[in-house]
Amino acid sequence: MSKTLHHRACHLCEAICGLTLETTQAHDGSLAITSIKGDAQDSFSRGHICPKAVALQDIQNDPDRLHQPMLRVGSQWQPIPWEDAFALVAERLSGIQARHGQNAVAVYQGNPSVHNYGLMTHSNYFLGLLKTRNRFSATSVDQLPHHLTSHLMYGHGLLLPIPDIDHTDFMLILGGNPLASNGSIMTVPDVEKRLKAIQTRGGKVVVVDPRRSETAAIADQHLFVRPGGDAALLFGLLNTLFTENLTRTSHLPVEGLEAVRHAIAGFTAEAMSSQCAVPSEQIRQLARDFAAADKAVCYGRMGVSTQAFGTLCHWLVQLINLVTGNLDRVGGALCTTPAVDLVASTGGGHFNRWQSRVSGRPEYGGNCRCRPWLKKCSPPATGKSARW
Ligand code: SF4
Repeated sequence: MSKTLHHRACHLCEAICGLTLETTQAHDGSLAITSIKGDAQDSFSRGHICPKAVALQDIQNDPDRLHQPMLRVGSQWQPIPWEDAFALVAERLSGIQARHGQNAVAVYQGNPSVHNYGLMTHSNYFLGLLKTRNRFSATSVDQLPHHLTSHLMYGHGLLLPIPDIDHTDFMLILGGNPLASNGSIMTVPDVEKRLKAIQTRGGKVVVVDPRRSETAAIADQHLFVRPGGDAALLFGLLNTLFTENLTRTSHLPVEGLEAVRHAIAGFTAEAMSSQCAVPSEQIRQLARDFAAADKAVCYGRMGVSTQAFGTLCHWLVQLINLVTGNLDRVGGALCTTPAVDLVASTGGGHFNRWQSRVSGRPEYGGNCRCRPWLKKCSPPATGKSARW
């Protein structure tokens, strides 16, 4: 029996940890995974691994795992060749769309597919050919406010500044629980050690969350906020930064900041306190602490996205980083330089070109954003045909 080591990336979640897999080849040529470990030489994940990746061999070795396409014939399943399966899918998809219209086909993309680089780089071509407006994904469930904010502020929905967790002195987290998510929309394997490293080098981690999350439990400070009150808290922070002259000049070309200062003049910490259930003095002190840190970053995630003021929250998060000089700065919120640069190679996105069929919500980037927690879906006033 011969053993081989393979270096791979786990694509079960955004952390993309490096893995070292050991396979053993038996005398009959069959391969078996004999070990899965975190790759200590991966400079990003540094050997980190979680139980999900260890369990990958259970998926690989599952006796129920399909090794070829199956076709249901009556109540039976029959194996068919891949070529036949592709031909059948193409025929059925085009037949359904020819009979019932392009939107009769819907697409949902979950996390394992959007973290797979093959699907990430190529699925858009296929989906573009489908020309359906019924596209849903993990993105449309919980992160479209990030993309819409970047589209409106920076001109591209995928230009998402991420917290420079390894260099910051002050990390303010709203509506995020990186210890459970492994750092969603910041790609941070081994996030617990990285957060604790901020504290070890004398920095501070502050969590704003209506519940004592796992991340809040290890933070230096936890502020309980009224659910849905994050925008009010962020307004209070931004207003304090302006009125107490806690802002710092940015090297970035910025337009409209005076208009923002003017527009939020009434959103004082005192006025916002009753909206977010955080005492005004705590809001002001948080703004002072944030501004006093040499390098600070404000990060908002799912809890500030899946709510009535999701896009507003992310706009405020970006502004807080910007006015304190922490946008596009080491230790602040950094723009990324990925190997496959989707910002350079794709369009910037689009918004409200059409509205969803039932509740009349605007699309973003071809995704329909469902927000059933806001209100019961009701037919649009102008009738279905006007929406499609
Ligand atoms: S945290 Fe776990 S699931 Fe996520 S990439 Fe790393 S090993 Fe995979």
